Amino acid sequence: MNASLDPDLLFISDDNWNNPNKRDTFLGNLKDNLEYIDEYLKIRINWSDELEACLWNAPVKQPWHRDYKNQIIPIMYRRFYPNLEYKDISNVSACNVEPTMYFEFDDNISISFLKLMHKIIIESSDSYLSLGLHNSSNHNGQFTFFCCCCPNRIEPVLINKPNEWLNYINVDNYWPINRNDKGKFKKGINAFCFKEYQDIKFANEYEISNAFLDDLCRENTNRDNIIQKIVKRLRSNHNEARLDRNLRDEYIEQSQEYRFYVDYNTRIHYKIINNGKLLFLRYYPQGHHDDGL
Ligand SMILES: [Zn+2]
Repeated sequence: MNASLDPDLLFISDDNWNNPNKRDTFLGNLKDNLEYIDEYLKIRINWSDELEACLWNAPVKQPWHRDYKNQIIPIMYRRFYPNLEYKDISNVSACNVEPTMYFEFDDNISISFLKLMHKIIIESSDSYLSLGLHNSSNHNGQFTFFCCCCPNRIEPVLINKPNEWLNYINVDNYWPINRNDKGKFKKGINAFCFKEYQDIKFANEYEISNAFLDDLCRENTNRDNIIQKIVKRLRSNHNEARLDRNLRDEYIEQSQEYRFYVDYNTRIHYKIINNGKLLFLRYYPQGHHDDGL
């Protein structure tokens, strides 16, 4: 499923741009949305030549183009342009939207946006719709896009605030494929932590061994559960983890390692190194006996 962007997220009037508070809020919101789309969701953005022209050409050329001190241009090149999916809207009319959306700017922009949404109706695609600041606070819970020529309507999945993207992240995007993917998997741990707890705070620092990464590479079915339990363990101190009925963290005398449970019969082994840092050692899926290890 692709993302559609509310023009209010990308376009700003000169007046609002010249107000430092409004400018900073606008840029922060745009930057955060693009970061989630590019880094956490890894999805495409619906786009068209017409909208592209609105961004760069007079008379509606965006004020942020003139301000080379700001950070947004490199962010656009890194996180926006590589993810675009261009739709041909040359023969498409503008559709309607209810309730009315806030469009502050030149009509060209709102018409181009509504043409793009009509194209999505024609394709019967589902779409996320990431809202700018005005529309995220103005709507009644859903926007419906419809036209006179197509039987269907679309109600995009609304993203009101950038971190709402986290509700739609896919664990497979972060799953390690080989030993080079340690950093990718750690990002996934952060993403899931933020999704569940709205912050990224751990009670313990941690490291991941190559053997642990190899075990994860072989795992296809239990991924959500594994990453959730890792996050839970990292947010707990040792006593909390020991008393937690899901984790059942325990010390194994024979191997001088610790383990906690992912689910009934799957476990993660770790040991404690440098000042309480956790080193994840192995993941044992169901059927692999670790007793006595
Ligand atoms: Zn239509």
